[in-house]
Amino acid sequence: MTDCLFCKMVSGEIQPDVVYEDEDVLAFRDVNPQAPTHVLVIPKTHIATTNDLDADNVQLVSKCYLAAQQIAADAGIAERGYRMVMNCNPEAGQSVYHIHLHLLGGRPMSWPPG
Ligand code: AMP
Repeated sequence: MTDCLFCKMVSGEIQPDVVYEDEDVLAFRDVNPQAPTHVLVIPKTHIATTNDLDADNVQLVSKCYLAAQQIAADAGIAERGYRMVMNCNPEAGQSVYHIHLHLLGGRPMSWPPG
């Protein structure tokens, strides 16, 4: 999608602070971090929201989770704990319409989220 911020990161038009990349997944530091570790893990394929997942593309979400698991281990937060979350649509606070897995850690977190 030419108009999508995260697709521009995949294409190289915009260069984020990349922490992990493979053929299907790109992970980079959130520009407005909400925790000491705050990384966004995205599929390189454009999928607007989790409502658009189906049997043909859902394996990309699995790959995002496995990448986030490795990033958490590399960041040294795997044993302490971390949060992984995908926001969907306005009431959940989604602001970029290309699915992304937030990996947050490095501080205690409360539940339920705001
Ligand atoms: P969400 O609100 O769940 O859609 O999350 C979008 C995230 O993208 C927010 O946490 C933003 O801080 C982050 N974000 C927006 N623009 C950039 C950017 N240029 N580089 C890195 N992260 C960004």
